[in-house]
Amino acid sequence: MPSDRTRLERLITQVFDDSEPTSFGSGWMSGTAGVFFGALAVAGVLVFSFPGVLSTEAFRTQYPIPVLRAVLQVVIGLAFLLSATSMLLRQRKVLGLTGLALSLTATLAGGSAATAVTEVSPQLTLGLDWFVLNLLLFAVVFVPIERAFPHRPESKTFRPGWVTDGVYLMVNHLAVQALTFLTLLPATALATLWQSDGLHARITGQPLWLQFVEIIFLSDLVQYWIHRAYHSVPALWRIHAVHHSSETMDWLAGPRLHVVETVSMRALVLVPIFLLGFDRAALYAYLVFVSFHAVFIHSNIGARLSWLDHVVTTPRGHHWHHAVRPTDKNFAVHLPLLDRIFGTQHLPPGQWPDSYGVEGRPVPEGWLRQFVFPFRK
Ligand SMILES: [Zn+2]
Ligand SMILES: [Zn+2]
Repeated sequence: MPSDRTRLERLITQVFDDSEPTSFGSGWMSGTAGVFFGALAVAGVLVFSFPGVLSTEAFRTQYPIPVLRAVLQVVIGLAFLLSATSMLLRQRKVLGLTGLALSLTATLAGGSAATAVTEVSPQLTLGLDWFVLNLLLFAVVFVPIERAFPHRPESKTFRPGWVTDGVYLMVNHLAVQALTFLTLLPATALATLWQSDGLHARITGQPLWLQFVEIIFLSDLVQYWIHRAYHSVPALWRIHAVHHSSETMDWLAGPRLHVVETVSMRALVLVPIFLLGFDRAALYAYLVFVSFHAVFIHSNIGARLSWLDHVVTTPRGHHWHHAVRPTDKNFAVHLPLLDRIFGTQHLPPGQWPDSYGVEGRPVPEGWLRQFVFPFRK
């Protein structure tokens, strides 16, 4: 049976945990947010100092740099203010001091005016920029919504497994260059073998919104059947079980996917989209939608979305997919219509599952243990 918390998670918990209350006004929220923004600020300054190593060239050339510098300034300011607030409110100062130390480090290292220390740009770079931007965006969007409309109000921010999920989020973003290369490999290879200019012109001649809808339908159709295969083929299930091992559903639970599944799923989904030759703008709109929707369906958002449950996958629909039982329902990631058509829909009105995870809890905790899990006897 897996332990609920990894060693790293226990260590972090021991450093920051105390018996003081965590309610509003206790300095816990301000302290936690201060440490969070402080860590992001340090990472942001690192990206500006080593852009060739810590950012992806494809994104780097597209960034509105003055806006990002202003955001970094705000993040440093928030880290400082929130940590100072926590220092005043909380008896144990570890949260406040850590946040202050991080914001001070970011400021001394150049703050929002940090410039490149070196222009070295290796072949393989780390997407720290991508990680920082997405983490900031996801946290700013989803944490307040989860707090305002929680499905499980008792669910804790630092629940068991949060470090493992955080590591998944980090690895998926740091390795964005390598993952994108592998993901695009089958689609680009096939596109060199077969492409129809006539079809391509017909597809791109349609309005962008229609192409966007078509991409979602097509990608989810491919996804649906691969997802079903991941559930029914035992060797594939061992890989996919990693995703289902989350016992708490929240905004951080979604990225928990074995790298083999991440690459294979994305690569196969992109094949028809590339071969049909959709407009890049529609494809980018789909990629933005996917990244937010994937976080949304796992989130701890319990707001009533009655009719929406049947139009687009909502947290309630996907939470049923993660229920200990029945797991073999709601395979579609975007469109519940597909589950209706193929007879795998499970959406009892107004109900939510009692518990999440894999029966018998066979999957261990920790990114590395989960990486080797499918290949062990
Ligand atoms: Zn599944
Ligand atoms: Zn899921």
